[in-house]
Amino acid sequence: MPNSPIDLHMHSTASDGRLSPEALVEQVAAANVTMMALTDHDTLSGLDQAAAAAHAHGVQFIPGIELSARWARGVVHIVGLGIDRTNTQLNAGVAAQQAQRQTRAQTIALKLEQRGMHGIAERVAAMVGEGVPGRAHFARDLLEQGHVQTFQQAFDRYLKRGRPGYAAVTWASIADVVAWIHAAGGVAVFAHPLRYGLSRGALRAAIQSFIDAGGCAIEVSNGGGSRDDVPAAAALARRFNLEASMGSDFHDPAFPWVGIGRLMPPPKDLPVVWQRWQEMT
Ligand code: AMP
Ligand code: MN
Ligand code: MN
Ligand code: MN
Repeated sequence: MPNSPIDLHMHSTASDGRLSPEALVEQVAAANVTMMALTDHDTLSGLDQAAAAAHAHGVQFIPGIELSARWARGVVHIVGLGIDRTNTQLNAGVAAQQAQRQTRAQTIALKLEQRGMHGIAERVAAMVGEGVPGRAHFARDLLEQGHVQTFQQAFDRYLKRGRPGYAAVTWASIADVVAWIHAAGGVAVFAHPLRYGLSRGALRAAIQSFIDAGGCAIEVSNGGGSRDDVPAAAALARRFNLEASMGSDFHDPAFPWVGIGRLMPPPKDLPVVWQRWQEMT
């Protein structure tokens, strides 16, 4: 896997990542990434710290976010890049999403307590700290307590839809989250298109709804996917005339197969979302 100098999708302890914003940026610099975006789930709270650390390390910093959006009965992720983190509309939207996450976390904890996972609410709250709770925090606790053998198994057995620890969330619509990103002067990116398990038709409909909202880019390369996902996502970019983005989706140094900057570059014929920031000096 080549090491890319550009990585526009990563997480910190502000959401479900393992490294503080500062520690993340240190790893980014060590991986020779020269342009990074921090894109925590439904929160802007790590951006100031990460920006300061990036400045100190000489890394170009693109403020970002990964917003959850409802699609049919499920969810898609929309990454916002180059956002103004002080924008009122974006902050209001993010606050509503966070309220959903807090309520869901309580419901998940209650359900898992009833299954015998005693103390999970307190342990997850301690793990989350000042950050925003996600299912990954519960997955980590289930693993640490020995209820599952792998992180993935926690999702498969407890946290996915249809499983005993699942709690539904009414995320904002795709149109709403794209509007917040645009209000904040950002670019909206349809994240990891091949990871939703959607049928071809459903995926195309979701992308069309993203385009109808004014979205203009798609993640062609994401560290969480397989090698075959890159040409498949590139075909979607061409079909829908979308710019390409790329990001590792790094969360945790314990998962070395998703490393910072470990990315296949998008095919050369595609316009790339980061060109607008490279032209700035
Ligand atoms: P949430 O947004 O809190 O519902 O959690 C989604 C996050 O869980 C993703 O961003 C990943 O970090 C993590 N995750 C890991 N494996 C899975 C999986 N099989 N299904 C859903 N989420 C997963
Ligand atoms: Mn995550
Ligand atoms: Mn995602
Ligand atoms: Mn992500």
